[in-house]
Amino acid sequence: MTSAKLVLDDLTLTYPDGVGRLTALDRVSLDVPAGSLAAVVGPSGSGKSSLLAVAATLVTPDRGRVVVDGTDTGGLTPAARAALRREHIGIVFQQPNLLPSLTAAEQLQVMTHLSGRAARQARARALELLEAVGLTREAGRRPHQLSGGQRQRVNIARALMNEPAVLLVDEPTSALDHERGAAVLDLLVTLTRERSTATVLVTHDWAHLERTDRTVTMSDGRLAAVPVPVPG
Ligand code: ADP
Ligand code: MG
Repeated sequence: MTSAKLVLDDLTLTYPDGVGRLTALDRVSLDVPAGSLAAVVGPSGSGKSSLLAVAATLVTPDRGRVVVDGTDTGGLTPAARAALRREHIGIVFQQPNLLPSLTAAEQLQVMTHLSGRAARQARARALELLEAVGLTREAGRRPHQLSGGQRQRVNIARALMNEPAVLLVDEPTSALDHERGAAVLDLLVTLTRERSTATVLVTHDWAHLERTDRTVTMSDGRLAAVPVPVPG
């Protein structure tokens, strides 16, 4: 038994590759408890985004299990998987993909499809989350009126809108300068603690990783513990 909110158990994923198969994930296991952030660092092409896609139940592995908040996702129908994603998993992709015509608050509110009183509650929650990511004054701005770092913060706040147990984050600092990258990492660590999410952050960048609870490396689809203290 485990109390981990996210359990990745012996995952293997292959893609068709000419006549053979390319192994993107090779017997990967990772347990992430609530309120803890695990960083997975590895070079481009090592399988990081594949790992997040499988953890997000967007891609079905060849073998292995993904257990989200106590639910083994392997036996679920596609509709049940979609519902589980919506209710239990927050995903922050590399590119924010904000809708150009919506304000920051509205980007969050569209995560809930509600009307009347519930819609007012959604607005209150959107504003609370924007405050948590330091964007109270920007709540009414549209994406073109926000900096790259601010857009990434909206992206993170949006992923938290449905109070997910699991937060999956793909290279959140890759488009940011060093200082803004550090601030986004600090924010993710703080949000992980405050909101008790089981967070997995993948990155090719060793910077700032001393802020995380645990760092593992990924190389050619395989995970390994970091043997020495993270530089930085
Ligand atoms: P990373 O995020 O670490 O850059 P990826 O998970 O995107 O790594 O890719 C891991 C490997 O799988 C790479 O060799 C990549 O080319 C390959 N790959 C990723 N997605 C697909 C796909 N949909 N079809 C075939 N090969 C893929
Ligand atoms: Mg990637």
